[in-house]
Parts: sequence; structure tokens; C-alpha cells
Amino acid sequence: MKKISILGSTGSIGTQTIDVVRNNPDLKITALAAGSNSEMLEEQIREFRPSVAAVWDEKAAEDLRVRVKDLDVRVLSGMDGLIEAAAGTDAEITVTAIVGMIGICPTIEAIKAGKSIALANKETLVTAGHIIMPMAKKYGVRILPVDSEHCAIFQSLNGEPEERVEKILLTCSGGPFHGYTTSQLEAVTPEDALRHPIWNMGEKITIDSATLVNKGMEVMEAGWLFGVDANRIQVVIHPQSVLHSAVQFTDGAVIGQMGTPDMRLPIQYALFWPDRRAMHTERLDLFALKSLTFERPDMETFRALPLAYRAMREGGSMPTVFNAANECAVEQFLSHKIGFTDIWKIIENCMDDHTAIPDPSVEEILEVEKEIRGRIGHRNLEH
Ligand code: NDP
Repeated sequence: MKKISILGSTGSIGTQTIDVVRNNPDLKITALAAGSNSEMLEEQIREFRPSVAAVWDEKAAEDLRVRVKDLDVRVLSGMDGLIEAAAGTDAEITVTAIVGMIGICPTIEAIKAGKSIALANKETLVTAGHIIMPMAKKYGVRILPVDSEHCAIFQSLNGEPEERVEKILLTCSGGPFHGYTTSQLEAVTPEDALRHPIWNMGEKITIDSATLVNKGMEVMEAGWLFGVDANRIQVVIHPQSVLHSAVQFTDGAVIGQMGTPDMRLPIQYALFWPDRRAMHTERLDLFALKSLTFERPDMETFRALPLAYRAMREGGSMPTVFNAANECAVEQFLSHKIGFTDIWKIIENCMDDHTAIPDPSVEEILEVEKEIRGRIGHRNLEH
């Protein structure tokens, strides 16, 4: 039995992880955690019988306690609950599939407790990669990427040392607005942006995919995971999303991973690495593919991507500013308070006004996040 805990079990990645567990009877769930969805958590608890369940929201935790009072499960809440779910059981692997910077502290505690991390929550590495990566090394734990692009890169690297890597080719579908002009983008509504052409994901990452903020965050994530700087990460627009990413080696060889778009593959790969388990899903039919196309990203129109490269190059607390400003801006866009292109205008304004703190501590990262949240709440959008 391989024991795992799942943070964010009710979300898109979480429910697909649950599916992987259903298909692999030798996986056992020891802990589940979510934000407030006590109804789905109850179903998951009844099916998988974890010893710990954590709900961020105290009221939802109360509700869950009543729902599962006939079962032997500790129901906890808040950050203490998340940390207990991440680090307090005998799981070998913690799947971090919660959304946002709330993932940083539980991930750190899981690493300290010696758990390998199956990492979906990219905000953790974007903002605290300089803390997480050395810590994982110190505690001898693996950070296994769940993001499909990073999983593809990980598979393509296949253990080759970093000095043999010339370039990482990070593919990107281009999102639903690929080819749009700035004036077309200005008219985009949340409803338009929530319709992703390929992947069915949580709301925040769907908007991030449409703005290419998600790709920018993946550039930063790849930098931490694979030890390469911004100059060696090339974003490649590939609308068919068949090549999930590739590595160009110093001898000119390009090795990539192809497949149908199904997140269960990278999730299962992370859970069983270095093993590769069978999976009975749709196969990639090369004969059915008419063509595969590759383009440079339009960095003039999709301003979030160059901003992400800038945040990565400036380093320190700048990626936190990028991320926190985006989190707030996406919330405002989803509630129709700002337009689509305001998202990157807000990010840029916040970055312009910030002087990066080198090597920020977790406390400093969270302080910067708080500061940005406070500012954007009161921001004059014309600024
Ligand atoms: P969803 O919005 O679908 O799910 C988010 C999950 O986090 C839910 O289980 C939610 O619980 C939980 N959650 C939210 N806030 C809290 C909190 N304060 N405490 C505890 N749990 C909380 O997101 P996704 O699954 O799409 O994405 C999760 C992460 O994975 C993100 O960082 C994303 O960037 C990354 N990712 C996602 C991919 C995808 O295909 N979806 C691909 C690669 C990476 P509740 O349901 O109760 O609100």
C-alpha cells in the first residue's frame, strides 16, 4: 500500500487524483482537505476512510463533523487542519492541489515531515521556490511535478544532468483568445474566458490560462524544478496540445512527451514514479492528427508573459507580487469589476511600485501578499 494525502481533494486536480486512486487499489488515502465543500468531502470520506479531514472554513468543518459523526475521522479546520492533513498522517506523498499561496505553509510542513510532494499548486514554487527546493534537498524528499508540462519535461529529462540541457521548450495551447488583438481582448467577459478549448480546470487557472499568466507561472515553476534560468525556457504556442513539452539537449536532440490531454496521466506518474503504471484511457492516434503547429508567443499583446519573465529575472519577492496581484485581479475580473486586459495592467503597476526583497522569508512573502491584497482592494483602476 502506498499512502497519500490530498490537499484540495474536491477540486479539478483533487477529483482526478481520486479517480487515479480508484483505479489503483494499492493506493490508500490517509488525509483529505478542501476549502468549504463539506458535501463532497463527506462522500470522499465515506468512500476512502481517511483518518484526517481538513476544511478551511470553520462553519463547513462543523457541518462535516455532523455529517461523518458515525465514522472514525478527525475533522479539523483552518491552517492547523491543512498542516495536519499535509504532514500529520503516515502518508508517503502529499498531493498539493489547493489553489493559491495558501499552499506554501502546508507544503513546507509536509517536506519537514519527510513526505514527497506531488506538486500541482504552482503558486508555492513561484513565490517560495528559493525556500522549497533547498528544503526538499535537505530533508531528502522529492518534488514530483503534476503540471502536465512539467511532468512532460521531467519524463523527457529522464535523469539527465542540468548541464546537458540547452533549452526547455514549454508548450502552451494559447488559450481561448489565441490570435486576438488588444481591442478584442478588452471586450472579453469572464464567461468567454472560462471556456478553455482543451482543459477542464478550476476557475482561477482557467482565467490564468486565458491571460497566459499561467504560462508565465509555469516558466518560473520550471526554473525552480529543473534549475534553468529564464533565458533557457522558451514558451512555444502549440494549439493542438499534443506535445506536452520538450527538452532540447546540448547535442541538439529534442525529447518531448506526447499524449492526449488527460491530467490523470501526470498525476499517476507522480504518484508511482519511478514506476510507470498502465492506464486505460484514450490513446493518442497519430493517424488522426492532421498537423501539429508551433508558433512564438505574442508577447506584445499578451503582456502577462513578459511580466512573468521580468518577475523571474528580478527574483526575490517580485514573483510574489506578480502572483498576488494576479490572484486579486482575477477575483475582480470574475466578479465583473475589471476588464480582461486590466489583469496584466494591475500586475504591472504593482511590480513597478515594488522593490524586490532578496531571498524573502515565508513571513516576508506572506506580508508582501497582504500588502498587495490591501492595495488592489483600494486601487484606482485608471492608475
Ligand atoms: P480548483 O479550483 O478546481 O480546486 C481547488 C481546490 O482547493 C478545491 O478542493 C478547494 O476546496 C481547495 N481549496 C481552496 N481554498 C482552500 C483553502 N483555503 N484551504 C483548503 N483547501 C482550499 O483548482 P484546480 O484543481 O484547477 O487547481 C489546483 C492547483 O493546481 C492550482 O494551483 C492550479 O494552478 C494547479 N494546477 C491545476 C491544473 C488543472 O488541470 N486543473 C493543472 C496544473 C496545475 P473547495 O472545493 O471546498 O473550495
